[in-house]
Amino acid sequence: MATADISHISFGLIKHANAPSKSKKLFLTDIVWRNVIIFVILHWISAYACIYLWKERRPEVYFFGQLFGTTVGMGVTAGAHRLWSHRAYKARFPMRVVLMILQTIAFQNCIYEWCRDHRTHHKFSDTDADPHNSKRGFFFSHIGWLMLRKHPDVKEKGKQIDLSDLETDPVVMFQKKYYLIMMPLLAFAFPTVLAHYIFGMNYWYSFVTVGVLRYVMSLHYTWMINSVAHTFGNRPFDEKVSATDSLTTSIIACGEGWHNYHHVFPWDYKAAELGGFSTNFTCWLIDQCAKIGQAYDLKTASAEIVKRRVQRTGDGSHPDIKQKKEDSEKHTMVWGWEDKDMTESDKKLATRL
Ligand SMILES: [Zn+2]
Ligand SMILES: [Zn+2]
Repeated sequence: MATADISHISFGLIKHANAPSKSKKLFLTDIVWRNVIIFVILHWISAYACIYLWKERRPEVYFFGQLFGTTVGMGVTAGAHRLWSHRAYKARFPMRVVLMILQTIAFQNCIYEWCRDHRTHHKFSDTDADPHNSKRGFFFSHIGWLMLRKHPDVKEKGKQIDLSDLETDPVVMFQKKYYLIMMPLLAFAFPTVLAHYIFGMNYWYSFVTVGVLRYVMSLHYTWMINSVAHTFGNRPFDEKVSATDSLTTSIIACGEGWHNYHHVFPWDYKAAELGGFSTNFTCWLIDQCAKIGQAYDLKTASAEIVKRRVQRTGDGSHPDIKQKKEDSEKHTMVWGWEDKDMTESDKKLATRL
């Protein structure tokens, strides 16, 4: 499908502008029906699990699922995201193994592919090369991008992203090699057996509640960052990027909702201007791991750099820094530490803890 042949319609579906009549090609080529059917089944089972928990009055199972989902979510937020995608800090072998196992339980693709897509998202944000380009609509950026074939630009520009650091990490490559064996065992069999022994439910109800419902809810929490945190909220650090800062998404997604800051300083391990237990749980966890020597070389933007950037490119919503509006140019985006477009002077301005 040539890039020139397409334009966008609502919900991010791609239509063939040059097609002579109502194009059946749209349904034959662009929608990945296998994924659509899988998502429908997953949501149907989740609704069934909710009804079961409601009827049987089992709130403790629901809350256990939430706690379990948040715990394994650290493999995504602290692991696949801040450590492996952005190289915002370094982690010792034991911590990397734990994060890899948690990320496998969370089942959002292997670390290698997750990082490739995420670096592409940062580097080519809000363009056709962005896998979940928010300009194609809320639904597309939330879940629709997983139901459609990738835009050709995503594949083409994605190949330009350097992944050599991941290829030299044995933890990442081990998971990539054995993902299809590890994932079903860790993501579904393990929580099913766990819930069976803790709550005494049979395997089926353990599977639909702590297996599937927990998984689907955690997916929506992650997708919110691509949709809600690219649509609603303020842009105090750069008004030219679609990513926004939002307290609600930050609390739900363990500190990943300070997304405007994160797109401006993707190499900052805090992924936010501030840390904190309640609004940036992932940052708090990395800080604790640093205290016991498992996390090190934490990179963060100094208050002075943040202030200067807010004054130059912010939308004026920063509560403490008055904006001067000196700079209206769009900045070159980087995917994180070691991006080829990150200059030595940029690196010198960072604080390394
Ligand atoms: Zn990111
Ligand atoms: Zn984003």
